[in-house]
Amino acid sequence: MMTIRGRQEKHSRPFSAFISYQSLPLMEPKLEREPAANSRYNSVNGFEDYDINRWFEDVAENAACVQTLTLRRIIQQNFGSEYLNKWLGDIEIQDLDPDALESLYTSLVPLACHSDLEPYIQRIADGDSSPILTQQPITTLSLSSGTTEGRQKYVPFTRHSSQTTLQIFRLAAAHRSRIYPIREGGRILEFIYSSKQFQTKGGLTTGTATTHYYASEEFKIKQKKTKSFTCSPKEIISGGDYKQSTYCHLLLGLVYSDQVEFITSTFAYSIVQAFISFEELWKDISKDIKKGTLSSRITIESMRKAVLDILSPNPPLASIIEEKCTELEKSNWFSVIPTLWPNAKYVYSIMTGSMQPYLKKLRHYSGELPLVSADYGSTESWVGVNVDPSDPPENVTFAVVPTFSYFEFIPLYRQNQDYTSIIDDFIEDDPVPLSQVKAGQEYEVVLTTYTGLYRYRLGDVVEVAGFYKGTPKLNFICRRKLILTVNIDKNTEKDLQLVVERGSKLLNQTRAELVDFTSHADVVSQPGHYIIYWEIKGEVEEQVLCECCREMDASFVDHGYVVSRRMNTIGPLELCIVESGTFRKILDYFLENGAALSQFKTPRCTSNQALLRILKVCTIKRFHATAYV
Ligand code: AMP
Repeated sequence: MMTIRGRQEKHSRPFSAFISYQSLPLMEPKLEREPAANSRYNSVNGFEDYDINRWFEDVAENAACVQTLTLRRIIQQNFGSEYLNKWLGDIEIQDLDPDALESLYTSLVPLACHSDLEPYIQRIADGDSSPILTQQPITTLSLSSGTTEGRQKYVPFTRHSSQTTLQIFRLAAAHRSRIYPIREGGRILEFIYSSKQFQTKGGLTTGTATTHYYASEEFKIKQKKTKSFTCSPKEIISGGDYKQSTYCHLLLGLVYSDQVEFITSTFAYSIVQAFISFEELWKDISKDIKKGTLSSRITIESMRKAVLDILSPNPPLASIIEEKCTELEKSNWFSVIPTLWPNAKYVYSIMTGSMQPYLKKLRHYSGELPLVSADYGSTESWVGVNVDPSDPPENVTFAVVPTFSYFEFIPLYRQNQDYTSIIDDFIEDDPVPLSQVKAGQEYEVVLTTYTGLYRYRLGDVVEVAGFYKGTPKLNFICRRKLILTVNIDKNTEKDLQLVVERGSKLLNQTRAELVDFTSHADVVSQPGHYIIYWEIKGEVEEQVLCECCREMDASFVDHGYVVSRRMNTIGPLELCIVESGTFRKILDYFLENGAALSQFKTPRCTSNQALLRILKVCTIKRFHATAYV
């Protein structure tokens, strides 16, 4: 019988001692045990926090076994599908124990990236319903946001995808409620948006994963189970015009302001966008509340009807809002969220990775209210849950949920010097299973999912920060793909983020603030050089911007960049200041091309010609760095 090489047993008692493979609670936490009499049975969220917490503790403690069994389940479900057949052939998997199957699987099935699977997914999109990646035909495809990769990708979506979404939301809610309990029956002000769903050539429904989720049974169940209700009816979420939806989210959020328990969105960007809009919209919103009318800017009939069904004239509320907003305007909207939503307990959203640049603005709007960083996942699969909701967003980690997918980790070692690969800054080692990851080590995440992705490289770099029982807690580092490279230089999104942070610190001395940024590696002009685009709110002297530009050029620590700059094989960094509203145009461009605001991430580097045209047309000032003269 085959055994797994070098497997480290992380669990202290045999998993089978209390949960057999057959009863492995991969989806619903239906543990046999009753809560002990003295246990904290928390129904604040309207469901059995005890059960879901207990379930997670069990699977986390036994993560290694759960992973092996998860893999077996995925293979069993999809055995005989074309893709698995290609690599596993007609091996009698029933004769193998789960450990042997895991070992065989990882030695026979190769690592794959999206482009390897694309021909299979395309056939599914074109209507081929034979068992290509999964035994059950795929009827829905998700579109990844594509804003970091530059293009959207089709990813299979099944009922399992919605179920795990519901499950991670419940799990995260249970952890949050331990620290920030909320009132049963309260409301959530959710800045969520569906994209348009459309049909592929083969008749499959396509849209973003969040769109499918908002349309799913699970989204309704979540509201019932958690007894927390979103302020906006579905007509607003699925309206298809984010400006109109945002207006209505804000309006109804204020109508229910006393009942709102927390404010949320998928990615922090959406909350920041909503409040930037609020600064302009508040007078109209307050007028609508006073008179029970709806601004003519809302033109979508179903949305109008849904809002007007709820609204009735409320002059006292309108005058409170007017009074508060008049004061807030004077303080540049500092602490607007707790001022207008006095019963809100926290703000909850993904604030890590490419969302970190919006933290400053989010803190400004949130004042003293805690910021709780939301969970880690992707269109392909959920990965980990934030089990320490009181951690500041900068330190947040995600405990891998070992039932969601089968996870492998490719160890990554950073190259410091004289390494000339232009593909990447890392050297890879062989992938290891979840049970063999080490604290302090960086890895790329690899997924085998129930939806037919096998040893799929997610492209995210994470660091193992520690463990929650037997499951690793991950720190999100960045997308693996290099974003800025001209020749031997290698910079990731994270590197750029740090550089922009340093450069924009100089704006603190002024009354201006950085609204958003992106970049481009210009390899057409000679020598090639980096261009960083900034949108700024407020007035800044040219001298300060010159200094920001110099500071950024000097702040790239990548050896290849420093050497190239000294030798002038990379030219001086260029800072382009774009006019106000440019990043809105970029957002609009993505939304017009099928992205959803709920999943939108500003591309931190672009070579997309349409975007570069927008940036070029909108540039109002240019500076060239003097760091290496
Ligand atoms: P998409 O599937 O296109 O919506 O984007 C998924 C990607 O968003 C992931 O692969 C990560 O790069 C990023 N992401 C998702 N959740 C988080 C998080 N909590 N922190 C940082 N980045 C995240």
